Amino acid sequence: MASLQPVRGTHDLLPEAMRGYRHVVDTARRIVERYGFDEVATPIFEFSQVFKRTLGEASDVVTKEMYSFTDKGDEEITLRPENTAGVARAFISEGLAQQVPVRYFYAGPMFRYERPQKGRQRQFHQIGVELIGLPQPQADVEVIAAGVRLLEALGVLSETVLQLNTLGDTESRTAYREALVTYFEKHREALSEDSRARLERNPLRILDSKDETDRGIVADAPLFGDFLNEDSTAFFDTVKAGLDALGIAYTVNPRLVRGLDYYCHTAFEFVTTALGAQGTVLAGGRYDGLIKMMGGPDTPGVGWAAGVERLSMLCGDVPDARRPVALIPLGPAAEQEVFKIAEQLRGTGFRIELGYSGNLGRRMKRANRVNAVAAVIVGDDELARGTATVRNMESGSQDEVALASLEEHLAVYR
Ligand code: ATP
Ligand code: MG
Repeated sequence: MASLQPVRGTHDLLPEAMRGYRHVVDTARRIVERYGFDEVATPIFEFSQVFKRTLGEASDVVTKEMYSFTDKGDEEITLRPENTAGVARAFISEGLAQQVPVRYFYAGPMFRYERPQKGRQRQFHQIGVELIGLPQPQADVEVIAAGVRLLEALGVLSETVLQLNTLGDTESRTAYREALVTYFEKHREALSEDSRARLERNPLRILDSKDETDRGIVADAPLFGDFLNEDSTAFFDTVKAGLDALGIAYTVNPRLVRGLDYYCHTAFEFVTTALGAQGTVLAGGRYDGLIKMMGGPDTPGVGWAAGVERLSMLCGDVPDARRPVALIPLGPAAEQEVFKIAEQLRGTGFRIELGYSGNLGRRMKRANRVNAVAAVIVGDDELARGTATVRNMESGSQDEVALASLEEHLAVYR
């Protein structure tokens, strides 16, 4: 029955996948906190305008990928495809301009109507940081360093390459855009339909095209480096020097543009070849024009976002679930009593697994299946004596211990 399938491009996170997800998110939380980032959450949906205005009408996300609907109050609503716009909206509507710089971390689901494939889903998850209010290039270095340390902590840094580019300031970008349009106009007929549309609205994005023919044309396009003014060059030099000083390796990729309209100056991506076509795991840049473009005060910002699924696939590390202690009653009186014992032990922090039925053999099997670290076997006779048998599930050794000292005895398994 089709209706009982998950929607295409969505996935259930069963316990093991969830632990992989948590590992990435918890690690990120721990690492970025060291850089002063505090976690925030913005709503999963916003007025569509929040994204239309910021992502740019011509961006792929807006033209093709948004999950939008009209709600019962006739409001145009969109499920967030990314979180920078939401954070910028919050910055404005919560009046945070007095508090700059602010450093925010977020984690949560994002929604894009894309063709599902490995590493590309319609509901996926991102973690990200936004450092708002600092115009200095050192802020870019700090933000990139936080990304480096996260990838390092996940054990995947060596599988990625940091690609770096600059999109310059507005003046440089305008000059470059003109040169690009002149160049691409000469190849208009050969360009893909998407790129022809981009030529009118956002020619920079043609550089990002995944179409084979487009890529060939892009290979000979003018380079941004030749159009950077002095300020933009100086900014980029400071970022590179900062990364050098921290020993962070990077490759300058003059073709790197970010998919979204509001970026300027620094653009970067950590790319891997280990995941097939979907190789970008963490990407970001500077977005000085964004908050003003949304109607807020002129406030610079820089940040990154990373795909949790891609990171989780890449690091492959899934922490084991916490091992429980299994409580196994044998006999009607014990059945009653273990509920109380279980509750007491849980109250002191143990993870307790209670089997509901079956003989000793079946219950021991289940204890093994849930990877119990110990089993507490309580028979009616033992109960009458005020004792229980504690079995170490690794070594198989057993001890009869007083119920009164059970917690103390189990302390080693906590
Ligand atoms: P791509 O070029 O892969 O489409 P993008 O430029 O659209 O990426 P961003 O908007 O920069 O991606 O999002 C940051 C990160 O979020 C990506 O590097 C990737 O790890 C992850 N991501 C983006 N879209 C998806 C998706 N549909 N499914 C899974 N992860 C995604
Ligand atoms: Mg995309």
